[in-house]
Amino acid sequence: MTEFAAPRKTLGQNFLQDPNIIAKIVGSLSVQPSDIVLEIGPGRGALTELILPLAAHLHLVEFDRDLVEYWRARNNPRLTVHGVDVLKFDFATVLNQVDRKIKVIGNLPYNISSPVLFHLMPYADRIDSQIVMLQKEVVERMASKPGSKQYGRLSVMLQQRYHIELLFGVPPTAFFPAPKVDSAIARLTPLTEIAHPVSDHEDFTALVKQAFSMRRKTLRNNLKPMLSTSQIEAIDIDPSARSETLSVGQFAALANVYSSVKP
Ligand code: SAM
Repeated sequence: MTEFAAPRKTLGQNFLQDPNIIAKIVGSLSVQPSDIVLEIGPGRGALTELILPLAAHLHLVEFDRDLVEYWRARNNPRLTVHGVDVLKFDFATVLNQVDRKIKVIGNLPYNISSPVLFHLMPYADRIDSQIVMLQKEVVERMASKPGSKQYGRLSVMLQQRYHIELLFGVPPTAFFPAPKVDSAIARLTPLTEIAHPVSDHEDFTALVKQAFSMRRKTLRNNLKPMLSTSQIEAIDIDPSARSETLSVGQFAALANVYSSVKP
């Protein structure tokens, strides 16, 4: 049996140990024999070992050098190991080699979970579905609707591009060592028909960030550096509304106005 080093806190290493939950997570990816799967942070392989026999090819992105060595030593022709920080990983290196959409799965370190989701966004049209384990509260924010307490930048940015489902919760006891927070599994399915297209994704990102820069302030005040009151009113949005009440479609409309008027 392999002797692993002690879990590294700095790399968010909380390894899954509950076989029922592991099977349920992998089951939610619905791996088909022709599928190319990319797993972020395989760790000691709780999910990896179940996916490997099911998929046509499995790409692993792992930052822990010992674990990279462990996976490389498997010498499996259906396994490619990318020993790199996922936030610096160029997903195009995998996507350029394949002729089909890929599936992505990851039990992500909580401190980098939102940055990883944003890093993956430009490739959404090449992804079939993403199954991710995140802090439960983060999944709730991702899936929340306008007017709710958790609705914010993360909800708007992700819902413009994905259909988001909270599949099930995962208690701390399912891991070793046990994290201090509750976790949940989310499925992000890229929208094939984008209901609210944006003309420039960077402008959309900048506008949503600016709109939520100060909570409880009006849209007019938050968006002052980008749009005038009359520009907001011109698309039938109330400038005295608060950002947390606006729909994804309204944010997309504001961003498109900004793209057309910005210097
Ligand atoms: N998938 C395994 C499981 O469910 O038991 C491990 C999950 S553990 C929460 C997170 C994994 O991500 C660890 O293997 C850790 O080494 C890896 N990791 C942490 N930071 C990373 C990064 N920046 N890039 C790639 N992998 C990272």
